[in-house]
Amino acid sequence: MHTPVTIIGAGLGGLTLARVLHVHGIPVTVYEGESSAAVRTQGGILDIHDYNGQIALAAAALTDEFRGIILHGHQAMRILAPDATVLFDQLDDGTGARPEVQRGELRQILLDSLPVDTVEWGHKVTGVRALGEGCHEVSFANGNTVTTSLLVGADGAWSRVRALLSPATPKYVGMTYVETYLFDADTRHRATAQAVGAGSMAAPAPGGKGIQAQREKGGTIHSYVVLPKPHDWFTAIDFTDTAAATTRIAAEFDGWAPELTALITDGDIPPVLRPIYALPGGHRWDRVPGITLIGDAAHLAAPNGEGANLAMYDGAELGKALAAHPGDSETALTEYEQAMFPRAAEGAASGAELHELSEDDPAEALIQAFSAHRQTS
Ligand SMILES: Cc1cc2nc3c(=O)[nH]c(=O)nc-3n(C[C@H](O)[C@H](O)[C@H](O)COP(=O)(O)OP(=O)(O)OC[C@H]3O[C@@H](n4cnc5c(N)ncnc54)[C@H](O)[C@@H]3O)c2cc1C
Repeated sequence: MHTPVTIIGAGLGGLTLARVLHVHGIPVTVYEGESSAAVRTQGGILDIHDYNGQIALAAAALTDEFRGIILHGHQAMRILAPDATVLFDQLDDGTGARPEVQRGELRQILLDSLPVDTVEWGHKVTGVRALGEGCHEVSFANGNTVTTSLLVGADGAWSRVRALLSPATPKYVGMTYVETYLFDADTRHRATAQAVGAGSMAAPAPGGKGIQAQREKGGTIHSYVVLPKPHDWFTAIDFTDTAAATTRIAAEFDGWAPELTALITDGDIPPVLRPIYALPGGHRWDRVPGITLIGDAAHLAAPNGEGANLAMYDGAELGKALAAHPGDSETALTEYEQAMFPRAAEGAASGAELHELSEDDPAEALIQAFSAHRQTS
């Protein structure tokens, strides 16, 4: 089968590209490895920035739908000391430039905006090969193959498409997030709910460790416990024994307020390890006819609140470039990549800065970063 524009990956980047192409009347097929939109909960809150994510949604003609899923009040930000003293408390007065949404709801409005047969679920890419003259053949684990004259890798951190453009592979950055959830927190975990507040909470400590938490819908508190440790440190812990594992993680926060360590020890589901990987800063490649990358596939970086926003922005920019150059996808891909490389490098650098804030007085550095942002937004 031949599909003219082929996107691999129905994450936020791939779906934004598909939607912008659809808005411009360009047919597209998205091949996604997972079997349906519902197979994995798309946990997490994303703040969608007025300088990238919101611009992408406007290009996708989905601003009204986006406004409909904003979690009002959730832009509140609190920074706590390890003893839970409030060091910084910014309320959400509705004027902030980074409204919060549930990732799953954002993905769903993109899916709902596409013709039903746009996404081919259950198509996990196992191989891609160049056929010459900008054409590629994509093979899937289910035995299907397609050929395409324009292939876009929107397949995330472990992209299979990337190998055709670059030898780079993601490397562990020396930090793992331990993800935990408290459900019905206002009734079942009251002290912790009060400490976290109405939106996001960060309790950083020198050396890079810390606890972050966010309010999701329905009283759920979703936390990331950040630990700068090598892989081996985590493999030595038996995570099948939840109680022992959470006690071991909490021991790293010995002396911290119990309402904060409860985010680790009182989790309502077993903790999930999220080792953090990144591509080399400034990752780029020479132009290869008929193929490009967007989002994490192109510029995976340690989490800094930009990744999903940048993936959507990449998708929108590539979609607009393709629409502006009908019949000349090479010019569109060149324009897109020349703008994307420096944008991605800048995004990754701001991430590195954020993580370096952790060195001496991370709480004070974070407060200054938030205060500066409040003045400019
Ligand atoms: C712990 C953590 C917290 C984060 N918090 C934030 C945040 O607050 N704000 C923010 O903006 N960003 C955040 N990010 C970053 C953000 O999650 C990513 O940058 C973003 O999801 C990238 O989108 P994407 O579309 O490029 O890739 P993905 O979201 O990874 O989507 C890739 C898609 O491709 C599919 N796929 C993968 N391989 C194949 C294959 N072989 N065949 C077919 N399909 C395939 C996947 O199933 C998936 O659907 C966070 C990341 C982490 C790890």
